[in-house]
Amino acid sequence: MHRTTLGDFELSIVSDGTYFLDGGAFFGVVPKALWSKKVTPDEQNRLDAGLNSLLIRTGGKNILVETGIGNKLPERMVHIYTQPAKLLDNLHTAGLAPEDIDIVINTHLHFDHCGWNTVRRGEEVVATFPKATYYVQRQEWEHGRQQLERDAVSYMSPNYDPLVESGQMVLLDGDQEIVPGISVKVFPGHTTNMQAVIVESGGKKACYISDLIPTSMHLDVTWVMAFDLFPLQTIESRKKYYSWAIPERWLTVFTHDDKVPWGYVERGERGKLALVTL
Ligand SMILES: [Zn+2]
Repeated sequence: MHRTTLGDFELSIVSDGTYFLDGGAFFGVVPKALWSKKVTPDEQNRLDAGLNSLLIRTGGKNILVETGIGNKLPERMVHIYTQPAKLLDNLHTAGLAPEDIDIVINTHLHFDHCGWNTVRRGEEVVATFPKATYYVQRQEWEHGRQQLERDAVSYMSPNYDPLVESGQMVLLDGDQEIVPGISVKVFPGHTTNMQAVIVESGGKKACYISDLIPTSMHLDVTWVMAFDLFPLQTIESRKKYYSWAIPERWLTVFTHDDKVPWGYVERGERGKLALVTL
């Protein structure tokens, strides 16, 4: 398990396992001749993608950023993506039960980021983390509920609507501090209202940048996933992110990297971006 400290906080990567993504969808307009130098797909052109949640222990609170795919995926989607469902086991290994989580932050509501928000109990869908307050951007939730042709498949009501109805999920309007040292900031591109989570303690910063930079292979601003609704905004948002994260040496956390979950982005020779791992 990957673990480090950031000021007074302890950060751990808690994974829900790995799932399949299509290599073409993962790297968008980047030719396979280029991306296949970094990662080798299987015979169906699939890649193993990580499902990394970030656990933040502040001393007072346990905060979970993102909840993976969960265990409620319909059979046809299990066939495509697989359903590893390892998050609760890995959380247990980290020493925590679901009741110990105080706050859950979803960067956005695609099924591979909020699946463990809820579980089925008989006919009901209930919160997996019974004592937690959940946070997401209001406009992300509204977008998912519209069920537009392009991305309806990514948004599954049982992952969030029961929590909104019960009042356990708080809908945010823009950038906000959640608790001292932990705040959210909207970076448009992947979706309009995807939020990153910025962690700050003892003069150090980390950022769960989510699908804005999904893996350490996506550092180049033009290596944008085909899933992104607004690729030009992704490029602008990445530039903005690097303008802060590189000079201030933020620890960048990657949501879908099954091998390198975090590191420091640096600008090397001729401006080329590189990652310094922990
Ligand atoms: Zn994703």
